[in-house]
Amino acid sequence: MSNRLGVLTSGGDAPGMNAAVRAVVRAALDRGVEVYAIYEGYQGMVDGGDKIQPLGWRSVSGILQKGGTMIGTARCAAFRTREGRRKAVRNLLEHGIDRLVIIGGDGSLIGAHILCQEWPELVSELVRDGEIPPEVAERHPYVAIAGLVGSIDNDVFGTEMSIGADTALHRITEAVDAISSTAASHQRTFVIEVMGRRCGYLALMGALATGANWVLIPESPPDMDDWEERMCEVLRAGRQAGRRESIVIVAEGAQDHHGNPITAEYVRQVLEERLGEEARVTILGHVQRGGPPSAFDRNLSTLLGIAAVEELLAATPESPAYLIGLRENRITRMPLEECVKKTQEVNEAIEAGDYERAMALRGKGFQDAFRTLRTLLRAVPHPPRPGQRRLRLAVLTADAPAPGMNTAVRAAVRVGLDMGHVVLGVRNGLRGLVEGNFEELEWMSVTGWASHGGSTLGTSREIPEGSDLYAIARNLEEQGINGLLIIGGWAGYEAALRLHQARGDFPSFDIPIVCLPASINNDLPGSELSVGADTALNNIVDAVDKIKQSAGATHRCFVVEVMGRYCGYLALMSALATGAERVYLHEEGITLRDLEEDLRLLVASFEAGKNLGLMIRNERANPLYTTDFIRALLEEEGGDLFEVRQAVLGHLQQGGDPTPFDRILATRLAVRCVAFLSEQAGKDEPASACVGLVGGEIRFTDLEEIPRIADMKHRRPKQQWWMDLRPIARMLAQPYPGFMTDRGMKGASGEC
Ligand code: ADP
Repeated sequence: MSNRLGVLTSGGDAPGMNAAVRAVVRAALDRGVEVYAIYEGYQGMVDGGDKIQPLGWRSVSGILQKGGTMIGTARCAAFRTREGRRKAVRNLLEHGIDRLVIIGGDGSLIGAHILCQEWPELVSELVRDGEIPPEVAERHPYVAIAGLVGSIDNDVFGTEMSIGADTALHRITEAVDAISSTAASHQRTFVIEVMGRRCGYLALMGALATGANWVLIPESPPDMDDWEERMCEVLRAGRQAGRRESIVIVAEGAQDHHGNPITAEYVRQVLEERLGEEARVTILGHVQRGGPPSAFDRNLSTLLGIAAVEELLAATPESPAYLIGLRENRITRMPLEECVKKTQEVNEAIEAGDYERAMALRGKGFQDAFRTLRTLLRAVPHPPRPGQRRLRLAVLTADAPAPGMNTAVRAAVRVGLDMGHVVLGVRNGLRGLVEGNFEELEWMSVTGWASHGGSTLGTSREIPEGSDLYAIARNLEEQGINGLLIIGGWAGYEAALRLHQARGDFPSFDIPIVCLPASINNDLPGSELSVGADTALNNIVDAVDKIKQSAGATHRCFVVEVMGRYCGYLALMSALATGAERVYLHEEGITLRDLEEDLRLLVASFEAGKNLGLMIRNERANPLYTTDFIRALLEEEGGDLFEVRQAVLGHLQQGGDPTPFDRILATRLAVRCVAFLSEQAGKDEPASACVGLVGGEIRFTDLEEIPRIADMKHRRPKQQWWMDLRPIARMLAQPYPGFMTDRGMKGASGEC
């Protein structure tokens, strides 16, 4: 095999493709492998010539934050023919390329699979026809391919998230939030069409994230003939209950259960005729593909790109082509052939009207989301079932406000009421629990909360102690509380543990308590991700993009301080998403030697032609080597080579409306928490737990486990999965390949 690798982007563009290309180029160069861009997707492969060109380290500078794809993409009819693919193979061999990273949607990946299968035969034909010499054929007997799913639709089997889907959801939620406010002002109904010809992912998750009132997707058409009446009934009931706006989201490929398309225009006519009110259609169209990639898409693409290079370098003649994807919050691979087949199976199932199979193939997360959405869409709760035990559940938010807290409260209230329970909100968090500040929440009390940042219930940080416990016990008893949901950060977790441990002394504490992780710091035990962290990360990334842009052509280094308390998650993930060369974490500490080394690296980088430096420091990385200290040190020692500025991002990180990811996570977790409380409340010895996302699954961890799995002093989990990503951030931000390894790279040995 050769020491050359080709990378191409194909089919519809998707935000994050650039980040993937950057990672592929840099990871390959770092490993001493040459990289060629194949411009304009398969068209460039078929055309050859100047469409295939080497890429250097610097040619991918400054593209991480850009939408679209800098190496171009196209649809190529010629590649669908054997003759076209024969030309493509000849062009690749001309450049000695027999390893490929192909980034595209399902069509592009089918093309990749066919190319992989046909390669040996096409190479023999080219030798037979005298188009390439036999020794070239001998050098390249097979092609190694790694496919990455770059498509906003998220419709390919083999990865839970495709490159671009998260960003598209950002665009959809921004648009729907904006439309909702105007719709509410005029009491109007809006029908919003989102992309997804064969996949309802964007429509479903968009509806879940925005609290839309009805959704139509291809995989699960309404299972009745007069679905129009059912939809109108729900919207009518919503209006009667006092809702001012009605939003219906329609996927491009929505259909009824006979397979007839349901268009946004048709839905609009139905609503106008049957509800007798004005309805408007908004087709979001290409806005969904646009804009800078979200933090998640940048990091996902980066990790996939690096894994693709590793895969290709390890390929043997026996290895199949792989799809590199994300499953259970980890980068994994699956044979491309299987992914292509399963993807086609979903499409065939939809065409054949086998919707059950289509839903099953979409996976558990999709089905869960659909079930949850159906409950939340209701305009009023189900009436209590006869003989059902009616619980009184209390919900509160604790610790610092985190975007997504309101979303979680809304979901808990609605699901709780739908199960026939009474749900009481506690005002002002743990303080309210001591002061007895309870308020019954109705179905409509939480309207619009899905999209609002902060905590409307109010929150507080103090952890109850001493006489507070007596007050809480009395309040819980007086209110007849059967279960408690605490949505928040460490203060909430510690308070829950304290109440749980005091149950011997206070009988009213003998109820199930469940903690839902909501903290921008992502520092909570029992969950790999907490609600609010994705929003904070995006806030940081937006701010750093602007800070970087402000530097213009000046030689400048920025030291940016981010939140996180003792947890470096936000610092590291924002460094990865913005291309920072150095990140300071409390987990690693900072020594004088580190700073000297960093200064030397920075000077060498600027001498090697860099004109922008970026260091990200966690707020508690070191009590003495502060952000100001580091700025002053670099400024003084950098001399004329660069100037240094600092930016302490502060509370802007906690603010803003939650991202779609945080809203969806908050909703999914809250639904499970209410189910947990309902189940445990009936038991003699009810369990108390914290809920979380572990390996992509929602799991409960017994509260008593917390001291074992957490570093209680620094209030963070003992094992933090993201620590493994540290060497990647540094490798990618080197000024030229091998720079870090030449000079020794902290963290590269994988000592984490
Ligand atoms: P996407 O990759 O976004 O799904 P398309 O379906 O348009 O977009 O596919 C992109 C390109 O992939 C096509 O223009 C074509 O060059 C190639 N391709 C798609 N399907 C096939 C196929 N069955 N055989 C060979 N090449 C294909």
